[in-house]
Amino acid sequence: MNICYNSSSSKQKEEFFMAKKENRGKITLTCTVCGKKEYRSEKQRDTERLTLNKYCSQCQKHTAHKEDK
Ligand SMILES: [Zn+2]
Repeated sequence: MNICYNSSSSKQKEEFFMAKKENRGKITLTCTVCGKKEYRSEKQRDTERLTLNKYCSQCQKHTAHKEDK
């Protein structure tokens, strides 16, 4: 019945979220000026889709870095 289908569908969603949680702690920051990607493994709670002002070695100055998903 419909109820059975819905419950299995929500379980799939849960697994999806669990897989995403494993990715947590590893973020990719992309320089919005030159597009250089910087990989950072750092646990950052409460910071989703944040734009950080960081030093870019390619631009040789502080630029806005966007968090990649
Ligand atoms: Zn840059």
